[in-house]
Amino acid sequence: MRPTPPPRTYRVKSFGCQMNVYDGERMAELLAEQGITPAPEGEEADLVVLNTCHIREKAAEKVYSDIGRLRREDGTAPLIAVAGCVAQAEGEEIMRRAPAVGMVVGPQAYHRLPQMIADAVEGRRSVDTDMPAETKFDVLPARRKVGPSAFLTVQEGCDKFCTYCVVPYTRGAEISRPYSDLIAEAHRLVEAGAREITLLGQNVNAWRDESNRGLEKLIEALADIPQLARIRYTTSHPNDMTEGLIAAHRDVPKLMPFLHLPVQAGNDRVLKAMNRSHTAESYLRVLDQVRAARPDIALSGDFIVGFPGETDAEFEDTLKLVEQVGYAQCFSFKYSPRPGTPAATMDGQVPVEVMDERLQRLQAALNASQLAFNQASVGKRCTVLVERRGKHEGQWLGKSPWLQSVHFTGEAAIGDLVEVELIEAGPNSIAARLVQPPHG
Ligand code: SAM
Ligand code: SF4
Repeated sequence: MRPTPPPRTYRVKSFGCQMNVYDGERMAELLAEQGITPAPEGEEADLVVLNTCHIREKAAEKVYSDIGRLRREDGTAPLIAVAGCVAQAEGEEIMRRAPAVGMVVGPQAYHRLPQMIADAVEGRRSVDTDMPAETKFDVLPARRKVGPSAFLTVQEGCDKFCTYCVVPYTRGAEISRPYSDLIAEAHRLVEAGAREITLLGQNVNAWRDESNRGLEKLIEALADIPQLARIRYTTSHPNDMTEGLIAAHRDVPKLMPFLHLPVQAGNDRVLKAMNRSHTAESYLRVLDQVRAARPDIALSGDFIVGFPGETDAEFEDTLKLVEQVGYAQCFSFKYSPRPGTPAATMDGQVPVEVMDERLQRLQAALNASQLAFNQASVGKRCTVLVERRGKHEGQWLGKSPWLQSVHFTGEAAIGDLVEVELIEAGPNSIAARLVQPPHG
C-alpha cells in the first residue's frame, strides 16, 4: 500500500444489529475527534468504514463485493477500514483477499482506529482483532449529539454458545460495563438530546454490576433522570429474565411495555440441539409472568427455521407457539451454517427449498399476529416520541410505547412526546390523531 494523504472526510456504513449501529456512532465520534468530518451526502469520503455483520449468509462475500464497489474508475479507492464481526472472524484473510483494504479492526479494538489510520497514511496496513484488557469504553470520546432515541451498550459478548451462533466467537466473553460508567454515559446522552435510551447487549438481561445487582437496578437509576422519558432494553435471553427485572415492568413507568425475548423454535428437541437451555414451556412461563406484571406488554422474538434435523412436525411446534403467544413483531431467519460453530457440521442439514417454505409459512403467521396486535391498539390513547419528519407535508413519524411506528400530522417537533389517539392500523405502521399539544 502506498502512503496516502490524511483523510479529511469519513463515512461509516453499519450492517446488522443495533449494537453495530451503536459501535458505528462511537467510531464516527472518534473520527470526528481526530478532525475528520462526515462526507457530505452524495460525495465520496476519503475514509470508508464498513462495520460488518457475520450473523448470517454470505456476510463475508458481501463485504468483498462492497469493497469492490468502492473502487473508482481510475482504479484507486478511498482508504478502507473493515470493522465489526466479519473483521473479527476473517482478520488476515481480508488483507490477503482485498489489497484495497488498509485496516481490519474487530469490535473490541476500534478505539485504536486513530493509530491505524496514522499507519495507513504512512503506507502500513494493519489488522487488530485483539480483545484487549483495557476496554474501548474507557478511551472513547464522550457522547455529544444524538437523536431523541439513543442506544447505550451495557453488556457485550456471550457465554451461552448456542450451537448455530458466531457471537461468542466474534464478540468474545460476556462482560458487563460498570454501573457508574453507564449512569455517566446516560446523563451525557440526555444532555445531548436523548429522551429515550435503549440499553443494548447480546444478552442484555445478563448485565450485573460489581455487587451483582441486575439490570432492574440500572433501569431504576436511569428512571430517576428527569429529562429521560423512556427506557427500553434488548436483546434478552429467556433464562436471564429474573423476578426483579419482570417486576420492573410493573413498577417503573418509564420502562416501556415491550420485550424482545427470542425463543428460536417451539420444539424442545430442536431447542436442546440448539443448546438454548430453555424449553418451549419454560419460555411460555416467563411470558406469563411478564404479562402478569404488565398486562399490555408487546412481545417480540427471533426465530430460526430449518435448524439441522428439524422435521416438519417439529416446525409445526414453532407455528403453535406463535399462535399461543400473539407476538407484536418478530424477526425470523433461515438457518445459516456459520463456519466454526457446532451446528454447521451436524447431520441433517435442511434443504434450502424446505427452509424457504417454512420461512414463508412462519412469516405469514407472524405478519398476521403483528397486524392483529396493531388492530387491537386502535382507539387507544398513548404518547409518541417524535423521531423524524414523514414524507408528506406536516407529517411526523415516531414510536408508540409498544414500539409501533406511528404517523400523524400536526404541530410537533423532533424529540417531542405527543399525546395521540391511534386511529388506523396497517401491518407495519399505525395512523394517529394528535390529541394534545406536545409537552417537550
Ligand atoms: N443474543 C440474542 C439471543 O440469544 O436471542 C440474539 C443474538 S443474534 C445477533 C440475533 C438473532 O440472529 C438470533 O436470535 C437468531 O435468531 C439469529 N441467528 C443467529 N445465528 C444464526 C444463524 N446461524 N442462522 C440464522 N439465524 C441466526
Ligand atoms: Fe448467540 Fe445464543 Fe449468545 Fe444469543 S444467546 S448471542 S443466539 S450464542
